[in-house]
Amino acid sequence: MTQLPGDPPGRSRVRPLPHPLTPYPELIVNFCPTGMIPTKAMTPHVPVSPGEVIEQACRALERGVAIVHLHARESDGTPTYRAEPYEEMILGIRRHYPDAIMCVSCSGRNFPEFERRSEVLELTGSARPDMASLTLTSLDFPGGTSGNAPDMVVALGEKMVERGIKPELECFDYGMIGAANLLIGRGLLGRPPYYFNLLLGSRYSVPATARHLAGMLEDLPPDSLWSAAGIGFFQLPMNTLAIAMGGHCRVGLEDNIYQGFDRSELATNQALVERLAHLSESFGRPLADSRQARQLLGLAPSPARTAAPVQAASG
Ligand code: MG
Repeated sequence: MTQLPGDPPGRSRVRPLPHPLTPYPELIVNFCPTGMIPTKAMTPHVPVSPGEVIEQACRALERGVAIVHLHARESDGTPTYRAEPYEEMILGIRRHYPDAIMCVSCSGRNFPEFERRSEVLELTGSARPDMASLTLTSLDFPGGTSGNAPDMVVALGEKMVERGIKPELECFDYGMIGAANLLIGRGLLGRPPYYFNLLLGSRYSVPATARHLAGMLEDLPPDSLWSAAGIGFFQLPMNTLAIAMGGHCRVGLEDNIYQGFDRSELATNQALVERLAHLSESFGRPLADSRQARQLLGLAPSPARTAAPVQAASG
């Protein structure tokens, strides 16, 4: 607890960064292989079918990522909200990596209705997700607006908490952290530790600089973990800052499809994960495996360890 200049008397706050003499925790890598945007025409390396996602997720888990952030697609490659492909991916990954942390998308970019956005939260048994994405306010992308009205954010957050699913608090801007703090203060986002995914470098959101990242960290509540993601060629710089500053990382083709800054070579998920893992290990931070990450995030043991087997795929 630290009293900072300018804080009201008697009010102290916990600094989100560890004391320099405190060893950093193992690095939690949140792997985002697919997203909603990359198509096979943009890059043949993006996994789209459940089988492709399962295979690439297992390779990444083998290398040491802890969380897999899933987006589902239909067989023609278009994004879908339907729970069925999510179920197939979660069961397929947990068959090989039962402790893997499964994080599903509740994005409203293509499907604004609550029932559709939250359908994936209804998966049960071994297919129940551990976490789900919760974007805290509306925002603009080059392709259009992602609507997240306050009522919708509250409803999604409540459904997550009700079902024992930890929100992945996606923040593309300062105001989103403010919105998260408001909901945390009202007790609507479950129990700490809170997991913030700070996404910098999207065209109409917070720029990807050290100054902006440091500014976002100032606003995080006590008992929170943070991960930094950079959009496009900001992925590696933001990941690097997070490694050096005691945060965690998100990496994958969802955010960035190129290997280098000159955009001459298409990346693969495997190469992006390998580069990040190597960087962190060289820095002295080994990767947290899924079991260690569960402890750091305050997650229960995997549903694959505790749930009765799922009898049949849901329709
Ligand atoms: Mg996503």
